[in-house]
Amino acid sequence: MGTTKDDEYDYLFKVVLIGDSGVGKSNLLSRFTRNEFNLESKSTIGVEFATRSIQVDGKTIKAQIWDTAGQERYRAITSAYYRGAVGALLVYDIAKHLTYENVERWLKELRDHADQNIVIMLVGNKSDLRHLRAVPTDEAKAFAEKNNLSFIETSALDSTNVEAAFHNILTEIYKIVSQKQIRDSPDDDNSPSGNVQTISVAPTVNSNANKKPCCNV
Ligand code: GDP
Ligand code: MG
Repeated sequence: MGTTKDDEYDYLFKVVLIGDSGVGKSNLLSRFTRNEFNLESKSTIGVEFATRSIQVDGKTIKAQIWDTAGQERYRAITSAYYRGAVGALLVYDIAKHLTYENVERWLKELRDHADQNIVIMLVGNKSDLRHLRAVPTDEAKAFAEKNNLSFIETSALDSTNVEAAFHNILTEIYKIVSQKQIRDSPDDDNSPSGNVQTISVAPTVNSNANKKPCCNV
């Protein structure tokens, strides 16, 4: 493989998809990375992650988005899945209340296995199923605020807010990482302002040496 345009980026961020089986994780990923949707729910065997690059603030951000390959059915997601992740989309189905109730369990899973500074976005998917809605938007929004999560409702089926969900979380991560770079810069003798969040995550595995490190500490 030669160097392609696709390999040129300023930041590489690993983002994981989590949430109950059937909520639409794989379809959010295929919608965002390939603009594809599948009505049939085939378990995602083989696909570890997919990538897509976006522009934020004049920088090229390459998102490496990991899908669970159906492991969530058995609650057998390995710690390797979370390793190096700087973001998580925690997905539930707005038409299935149980998938929303289980968000608490997924948050605990993140607390136990992911970096403590991981950026988490709560995603209520299948917003097209208006007539079947079981989780009120306001309730999920309030829950997200209480738990310091960003929140958005999406539809992988009709594409509503799929771009926005990924753009928002990648921008949020970018802001934290770039603030940290300014703060860590040797030229900057000023002490950091109190509200700057530190993010201490291992860099995503990247064999290309000539890239800016994303978040080494
Ligand atoms: P996963 O198990 O979380 O990866 O969920 P899938 O992406 O495999 O989707 C499970 C089922 O929900 C499939 O039948 C999809 O076609 C369907 N689905 C996924 N996203 C949406 C959506 O936004 N709206 C609707 N109506 N169905 C969806
Ligand atoms: Mg899946």
